[in-house]
Amino acid sequence: MHKQDGATMSEENTEQNRQGKTTDDLVIAKRQWERVRSRLRAELGEATFNSWFRHLEILKATATSITIQVPTKFIGSWIETNYLKRILGHWKKENDAISKINVSIQPAMHQPATQPETISRVVTDSRSSQPVQNTQVNHLPSEERGQDDVGAPLEPRYTFDNFVVGKSNEMAHAAARRITDGNPSYYKLHNPLFLYGGVGLGKTHLMHAIAWEIRRNDPSRRVIYTSAEKFMYQFIRALRYKDMMSFKQQFREVDVLMVDDIQFIAGKESTQEEFFHTFNALIDGNHQVIISADRSPSDLEGIEERIRSRLGWGLVADIHPTDYELRLGILQSKAETLMRNHKDAVVPEQVMEFLAQRVATNIRELEGALNRVVAFASFSGRPITLEMAKEILRDLLRASERRISIDQIQRKVADYYNVRMGDMLSARRSRAVARPRQIAMYLSKQLTTRSLPEIGRKFGGRDHTTVIHAVRKVESLRESDPSIEEDVDLLLRSLEA
Ligand code: ADP
Ligand code: MG
Repeated sequence: MHKQDGATMSEENTEQNRQGKTTDDLVIAKRQWERVRSRLRAELGEATFNSWFRHLEILKATATSITIQVPTKFIGSWIETNYLKRILGHWKKENDAISKINVSIQPAMHQPATQPETISRVVTDSRSSQPVQNTQVNHLPSEERGQDDVGAPLEPRYTFDNFVVGKSNEMAHAAARRITDGNPSYYKLHNPLFLYGGVGLGKTHLMHAIAWEIRRNDPSRRVIYTSAEKFMYQFIRALRYKDMMSFKQQFREVDVLMVDDIQFIAGKESTQEEFFHTFNALIDGNHQVIISADRSPSDLEGIEERIRSRLGWGLVADIHPTDYELRLGILQSKAETLMRNHKDAVVPEQVMEFLAQRVATNIRELEGALNRVVAFASFSGRPITLEMAKEILRDLLRASERRISIDQIQRKVADYYNVRMGDMLSARRSRAVARPRQIAMYLSKQLTTRSLPEIGRKFGGRDHTTVIHAVRKVESLRESDPSIEEDVDLLLRSLEA
């Protein structure tokens, strides 16, 4: 990247003259940075790397410190809190004398000098890089364009106020909040925002929260929230009624398009094609696009490679499974709301702690459990107690007890055969590790609801055919080899205990 900011250039020049050695330091640092970068990429994965490190440059280097240039405040503060130690650690391997990494915020060179504060009506045409007045978008009132028809309705409860932030969702939340700030420099670098995570962890909630917030800040901005499923139905309907022109127009005239659960269009080729055209048109016109899925872009099987890679080209934020603190926080916040509506619904702390511990699958189930307890109490007129909660949730608790993770299975099998956990994931093919690995795959198929491709991925990214092979192999060994039968039997029993 060339530096465009004159002030910075001359500052650097004087400093170089003064220090003499700085130029060399900078050249060396840039080379070291390449190596640090590739380690970060290997360690963090492509998606995370692209989100945070793709746009970084070395700005300055001295004998003991490195200054990294970041394009936005958001990226800067995220790197400072989350990655600075790691960067320093890697840098020390390159040059032990480096003791400090600084972060300096410098907008990227392609930003015009005078940024419009909000991008609500001014969009930049990427070809001419001239700001153009996008009159089309706003000259019709939204009702006439059938806004509610195109998108899906928004749930009033799903706001930022009702979203509890914890470690597992803080990055997704921060990214979502940023979009509602309407900061144009952020906008370009992190478009699309791709949110992914398991079921019931708050993806839809966050998307609705973004939509509410944008509408509140600037009602003239056109926001469409839809699901991939609805997108497909509308596309098919448009095809049938030969109404493609208005279909295309509706989606391309928005300021912000959100498509929820994109994994739905896997295997649906013409819908994918149409989605991709819409997507490209919006991104090229610098309109914000927000996508959600239950897995990362690269894991979206059945979606074309070029689409997958484009989806991961902005900011990819994953929502991890919840931890105990977050679950308790969510319960406390929900209980407060419930208590406002049913005056008599007092949920004792002890009950919340119990639920947070035992209903660990996802937030939807957690909420459901709390609602059931509160509903029962208010309908029976009895106060909520721990005994009552256990009684009402008996079936749910039993089901969640039985859930075993692939991780647990791998650990148990590794222990049993005295191999390392890493061998479960490695490419080593020697019998001593291949057999236990096959048994762990077999047990994962038996004891979890994971699909074959999901299991394959958990075993160091193997193909689903490898898993099928392992399952068949172990099935036949159980019949022909009594010692294997005994091993599997023991493992099954101890995992189910
Ligand atoms: P997903 O779309 O990821 O499957 P949802 O957004 O539908 O999950 O969330 C499931 C339920 O859990 C919703 O009722 C939502 O309000 C609630 N929820 C999820 N995350 C949070 C959170 N961080 N704070 C409060 N409620 C949450
Ligand atoms: Mg959802």
